[in-house]
Amino acid sequence: MVAFFVIATSAVFAQQKPKNIVFIIGDGMGLAHIYAGMVTNANHLQMERFKNIGFSKTYSANNFTTDSGAGGTALACGVKTKNGMIGMTPDSLVAQSILEVASRNGLSTGVVVTCDVTHATPASFIAHQVSRKMTQEIAADYLKSCVDVFIGGGRKNFRNRTDNRDLIVELSNNNYNVAFTLDEVQKVKSGKLAGLLYDGHNPPIPERGDMLPTASIAALDILDNNKNGFFLMIEGSQIDWASHNNDASQIIREVLDLDNTIGKVLDFAEQNKNTLVIVTADHETGGLTLPSGDMLKEVVNGDFSTKDHSGVLVPVFAFGPGAEQFTGFMENTSFKNKMVKLLKLKD
Ligand code: MG
Ligand code: ZN
Repeated sequence: MVAFFVIATSAVFAQQKPKNIVFIIGDGMGLAHIYAGMVTNANHLQMERFKNIGFSKTYSANNFTTDSGAGGTALACGVKTKNGMIGMTPDSLVAQSILEVASRNGLSTGVVVTCDVTHATPASFIAHQVSRKMTQEIAADYLKSCVDVFIGGGRKNFRNRTDNRDLIVELSNNNYNVAFTLDEVQKVKSGKLAGLLYDGHNPPIPERGDMLPTASIAALDILDNNKNGFFLMIEGSQIDWASHNNDASQIIREVLDLDNTIGKVLDFAEQNKNTLVIVTADHETGGLTLPSGDMLKEVVNGDFSTKDHSGVLVPVFAFGPGAEQFTGFMENTSFKNKMVKLLKLKD
């Protein structure tokens, strides 16, 4: 009898569609990064709450090993493009992101990152430029976009510009609440919010404190006012940078910061019941392996095969209505269309 009810419940759950999606990206976060975080955190992570698990193939249009521009564009826009490109096909045509499609369909949208908001991953959801290096153009694309909430670093690309535009003033004129501190971010409870907390990137953990979980909750608080639903992208941006530095201790700190954030989002999703939460990476960084460690002492020894990205599969985790669609092996370009269908959006 018990078994019957379990089957019946999961069958009903499988037919449900989410109203909201939170898409969480650990930049450069491979399986070894996750396990390093787990072992050093008393053998547990919030990520263990996910029961739907899969793998994503991360190669780009012109390279076995993707960068975060092509990787972000694949996840956001559903197209394989050339390394370095943002929100465009290989022949420089604009590719619409899931965030843009959601916004056009009346959903609220947001982006929360621990880097400059013009950096490759968030840019892939907002901007359309042939090169990720065009950070001033990407900042200007925020003004063209309809994103409701964005929080991260990168004030300088909005203010100290070669075209002399002051995009901070323009954001205010476009009805954004502009916040320069986490306290100011938390005071905004509705409407549009531009949280530009640093001139450049946010500092690494531990200097950054609980910026990522706090900003993510603040964004959820605003976005869930919309009865039509919302799409929110959250990035643990600096797992990648610690990995480029082959710094295992810093990788662990950044993974645990993202995992803590994931726990808060899952708490929200468990209560809300209409929210699909997806976690993945744009690629692995460092070619990290863990040849040895000690479970009792909660330590691992990391070995790296590169100072750059690697081409291995990255894990995918999903929770909530529609989560079963993110299991098995998948292309990194498959996320967008699945999300469009689940949210019943007109692309
Ligand atoms: Mg990134
Ligand atoms: Zn990288």
